[in-house]
This record gives sequence, C-alpha cells and structure tokens, in this order.
Amino acid sequence: MDLPLPASPFAAEAARRRTFAIIAHPDAGKTTLTEKLLLRGGAIQLAGAVRAKRDARHTRSDWMKIEQERGISVATSVMTFERGGLVFNLLDTPGHEDFSEDTYRTLTAVDAAVMVLDAAKGIEAQTRKLFEVCRLRDIPILTFVNKMDREGRDPFALMDEIEKTLALDAAPVAWPVGRAHDFAGTFDLLHHRFLPVDATEADAIPLSGPDDPRLAALVGAERAAALREEAGLALAACPEFDLARFREGTLTPVFFGSALRDFGVGHLLDGLARYAPPPRPRAADSREVAPEEDRLTGFVFKVQANMDPNHRDRVAFLRVCSGRLLKGMRLRQVRTGRQVPVNAPLFFFAKDRQVAEEAWPGDVVGIANHGTLRIGDTLTEGESLNFRGVPSFAPEILRHVRLEDPMLAKKLRTALSQLAEEGVVQLFRPLDGAPPVVGVVGQLQLDVLQSRLKAEYGIPVGFDATPWEVVRWLSAGDRAALDRFAAANRRDVAEDHDGALVALFASDWRRRRAEEEWPMLRFHAVREQH
Ligand code: GDP
Repeated sequence: MDLPLPASPFAAEAARRRTFAIIAHPDAGKTTLTEKLLLRGGAIQLAGAVRAKRDARHTRSDWMKIEQERGISVATSVMTFERGGLVFNLLDTPGHEDFSEDTYRTLTAVDAAVMVLDAAKGIEAQTRKLFEVCRLRDIPILTFVNKMDREGRDPFALMDEIEKTLALDAAPVAWPVGRAHDFAGTFDLLHHRFLPVDATEADAIPLSGPDDPRLAALVGAERAAALREEAGLALAACPEFDLARFREGTLTPVFFGSALRDFGVGHLLDGLARYAPPPRPRAADSREVAPEEDRLTGFVFKVQANMDPNHRDRVAFLRVCSGRLLKGMRLRQVRTGRQVPVNAPLFFFAKDRQVAEEAWPGDVVGIANHGTLRIGDTLTEGESLNFRGVPSFAPEILRHVRLEDPMLAKKLRTALSQLAEEGVVQLFRPLDGAPPVVGVVGQLQLDVLQSRLKAEYGIPVGFDATPWEVVRWLSAGDRAALDRFAAANRRDVAEDHDGALVALFASDWRRRRAEEEWPMLRFHAVREQH
C-alpha cells in the first residue's frame, strides 16, 4: 500500500477505510456485483440478502410498500465488510430510472465510486448522470465492464466512449482474452498475470507479458494471438494507469469481468483496496478537517423517516470525517448549537441493524432522532464548523400539490415544510404569493411524498402540472441585479426552503435565453446547503 505509516490510532483506522458507491444504469449488474463483493468480503450471510431485503421488509408503512411493489430500495443502505485488513463501506445508491435526491447526496459521502457498464451497452443515460455528480466532487472512479460472458462491444470502442462522452481518460488495467462464449479470462496488464475465468484470483498465472508463449497453451493459439495484438495496441494507444490522475478524478482504471459468473470481481476489489483513497481531508467553512484528527466531526447526508408511521422518528445518516464516534457521546449540532445525544448509533448492514461500538472516519452511522437532525447538518465535539458540499440538485419535475380537502391547507403547509427539511422533496414559494411548488429529481419522490402525507399526516393529495420545467438557483455579485431580475420576473421567481432565490423556466430554451439576457447573474443547477 502506498500510504505513509499512520501516526495515531485515528490515522490508522482512517487509512484502512474504503468508502465507496456503485454507479450504474439499471440492469448493468449493480445488484449482482454487490452480492459478489459482499461474498468476497466474507460477508457471506449478507450476500443474497441484497435481493432478499426487497422481500424481507414487512409492510411497515405505505411508502415502504412502494419500495416493495417496484422492487427497488428507497433506502440508501450501507454495507460494511472487511477484507485483507481493510474495512469497505459500500453505500447503496438506487440506480433505477426512478432515482431520487438521496442517490445524489449519497455520492457526497463516498471517497470513490465503481462505475459498472454493461459491455453491450456502454455508457447509458443514468450512468452519465451519476458520473456527473461524481465529477462535481472529483470522486475517483474505477470502471467495471460487466457481462463479458456475453456478446458485447469492442473494448476499444468502450474505452473511446468513456473518453469521449465523459471526458475521462480510460486506462485498461486488464484486457479480455476471448469474447462472449469464448471468453477465457483477462490478462492483467499491470502485473502481467492471466486471470482464468473459472478460477479464483489465487490461481492467477504469472506470465512474462502478453506475448508469453505459455498463454497459447492455456487459451489456445487463436485467443493468445488476438490478445497479443490487442494488448499491444491497448498499451500503445490507451493512457497508462496513473494513481495520481485517478485520485484527482481525471482517469479511470478499467476492469473487465462478469458479475454473474463471479469473474473479475476479486481483481476489482484489489483495485479498490490498492487505489481507492482512504478518507481524505474535507473542506469546512472555517478550515479543512483531516481524518486523523482526534475529535469527532461528521455530516448528515441523508435522513430517513422511521418505518413506523406512528412515530416521528428519524434516522440521520452521518458520515464520520474525523475522530471516533462512541456510543453515548453528546455531539454538537452546529446549525443550532444544540447537544445531540448519540445513545445507540446504528450500523446499517444489508440485513440487520447492529449497535455499533465505535465508528471511524469513512464510516457511516445512523443516529435516531425526532426530527432534530437535517440533511447537511454538521456534528462536532464542540467546534463550530460546517462541512460544505451536501448539495441540492435542481429538480427535474415540478408539481403543484392538489389538496382534496381545503380544510387541511394549513396542515399541508406544515407537513410540506417538515418533509422539505427532511429532504424528501424541495419546496419553492413563488414571490407573487402563488401556491408553493414541489420539486423532485425522480417520480419516485412524488410517490413517497404522496404516501407519507397520507400515512403520517392524514392528508390525501394529488399533483398538478405547473407552467415550469426547469429551476436554477440565482446569485449575483450585485444584489441590485438580482432584485431587478426578481422584479421583472415576479411570477417566475421563488424562494427555496432556505430562502435562496430560484428562477423557474417553462423550458430549457427559456433558461438559456434568460442566461444570455442577464449576463450579470449566475444560474446554478446545484446548490450547496449552508
Ligand atoms: P442492476 O439493475 O444493475 O442491479 O442489475 P442486476 O444485478 O439485477 O442484473 C441485471 C440482469 O443482468 C440480471 O438478470 C442479471 O442476472 C444479469 N447479469 C448481471 N451480471 C451479469 C453478467 O456478468 N453476465 C450476464 N450474462 N448477465 C449478468
């Protein structure tokens, strides 16, 4: 490992954490890969639970039912496993068409991501969206080209697509030997080994290079000749793997395998262990916080309502950034100055919640509370600092909430406010006093909102279209320019839940026009909280 010898237990614990997410378009194989990773990590009892959890949850509330009906996970769970002395925290991001802001925010809590591509499909719409969120924070990305056991695209074309569509250099660290039903394994370009498809990585066969004559004896003359030529071309034409460039997010190492056949997964996991960074220093408003500091800091990136609709309990997901979290600690919620007791921090495994004894930088813990903790909150042992970078993303769907019983209007206002604080939806109040608009990035969030309003607040609602499709947060060096814009566009300017100004547009074309007409303003698709 290329890490300096840790100087303290804090540094040592931080150095052995790898906190990551898998980003993928639906069907690329994320679930299968997750299962296989957990298996490798020795969390055997958990593998299979990844799928089983879809069935195991009982009908605890309506919005959990949505999850079951659609067979998707609304919850972002955290799966932890150990391997080779390292602790891997895999934060689950639902990669389905119906994704939500939770998916985005989860990516603010990881230090690396694995991008899974279907070998036959390459970069798909959702892959790209998720990648762009990673890029916002320069998150290093390892690429796993999955389904190599099936007919797929030419690997060179895939490399090219990554480079062209994502503007990310693609450095193959392995190269497929044979294709589809003829797929024999991969050649490890960095360590000159042949990884046979039906063997564990312990059976990797060391070779002198892609032109080692022994390869022909292993895979046949034809496949060996093809590899010789292709590997030569890959080494000459593709960028070389470069740890520094990977860590700064400008280059991705590319692995090939088949999650279904459990091939290439060990190689990928080795790559995560070797190359993915441990927790890194994180920017707060007043200073940068290093993971090896001995005082606890962390931030809340997700809040989930308790499964039990009769209780207003919430679980806040805290990403630990420095120090050690111990059961029974009292932490300071910087936003309010309040003390928050952490009596029973929870680790979220795929199957069970377990009471954690301690958590270190890179770990994620759940903190039960009654609505005190909000997304973006920083917790410390007393210091007044706020982590930046838990963002709001401009919603892609805007709706008016239609109330079936007008008597409930006031109650609805309170409920929407609370749910907006929790991050279930975003809420925009037009300056002209028109009814508020809810904004979400995925349809699923609307379904969750609807069922929770009914189950938890007793408010049945429907949704109506609005004249708008696009939202941008506004800022300007000159406040007067903002005021002029707001005055000129009163019907199309609103405040978000924190009082920040947004412009609402009927179309993206309108947005572009406004941006041209108001060069003194800035229009942001992402807003950082705090
Ligand atoms: P997710 O939607 O990204 O979580 O994808 P899944 O892991 O559920 O996989 C989608 C489908 O692809 C399932 O039918 C899997 O069995 C299949 N699949 C996943 N990995 C592979 C693979 O390596 N080879 C083949 N042939 N099929 C795969």
